[in-house]
Amino acid sequence: MINYTNTAIVELKSQIFEQFDVRVLLKREDQNHPFISGNKWWKLKYNLERALKDGHSTLVTFGGAYSNHLYATAAAARELGLNSIAVIRGEETLPLNPTLSFVKAAGTQLYYISREAYRNKAAPSFIQQLHDRFGNFYLIPEGGTNALAVKGCAEWAKLVKEEVDFDYLCLPVGTGGTMAGVIEGLNESSRVMGFPVLKGAIFLEEEIKKYTFKNNWELVYDYHFGGYGKITDELIEFIIQFEKQFNVPLDPIYTAKMMFGLIDLIKKQYFHQRSTILIMHTGGLQGRAGFNF
Ligand SMILES: *Cc1c(COP(=O)(O)O)cnc(C)c1O
Repeated sequence: MINYTNTAIVELKSQIFEQFDVRVLLKREDQNHPFISGNKWWKLKYNLERALKDGHSTLVTFGGAYSNHLYATAAAARELGLNSIAVIRGEETLPLNPTLSFVKAAGTQLYYISREAYRNKAAPSFIQQLHDRFGNFYLIPEGGTNALAVKGCAEWAKLVKEEVDFDYLCLPVGTGGTMAGVIEGLNESSRVMGFPVLKGAIFLEEEIKKYTFKNNWELVYDYHFGGYGKITDELIEFIIQFEKQFNVPLDPIYTAKMMFGLIDLIKKQYFHQRSTILIMHTGGLQGRAGFNF
């Protein structure tokens, strides 16, 4: 299967954490694979296994022009010698951004569809059109979220919990697939806190409940910074400071928003004293390359 390097769990030390008497641990999953990084590795794991078992030679998946999921899937297809097609929301813009340049160079075919068509991408009639065009393929949904992705993320959380004990686990949330898996992988002695990066993402509640009946989790909606892909000067300043202080890179779309939110909640005494908080670094640093700061 695809290559995997086990990653370190490091303690972040700071005066603020000391002052509020919390222990903050970071799982450096951004370092698990050079191209299929963070949660995307775990979301793809069982999907790729299924695709190979079923004898598929082509993957089809969906995403926007900056998608970490498209990037990871392109790298996985290359590593496994599979054909792959990325169905991309919106029109082609040239030159290609760093994400799509990589996807294309990895051998993935770029297939652009209108935003309107993209909204309809899960409809059977649209999937049939894709089959008419591309033949047989294994379909991975947008963002890679499905039951097999949840299974992979559950395994990830279970392994982390075997390595270290914690009271809270924090992670950034896009589609909710990773969070659902993490909840499934833990018992009720740990509380999972998800930080959605989309604005007004109340649909996530239902999305997560599709995959888990457990209720040891919550979504913190206050740290989206204006919505998906929106970046403020305050956030950029935070990233620069954080990287200097802890020597850990953050991506502006996901991990920086979560870290900002977490530190803010610590300052607001959200966590009881002597709590241990485990943070998942979900990767996404390929997206950092497009920003000049
Ligand atoms: C895709 C991604 C997420 C969100 O994962 P979901 O399963 O869609 O919620 C979080 N962090 C990073 C870095 C990602 O690339």
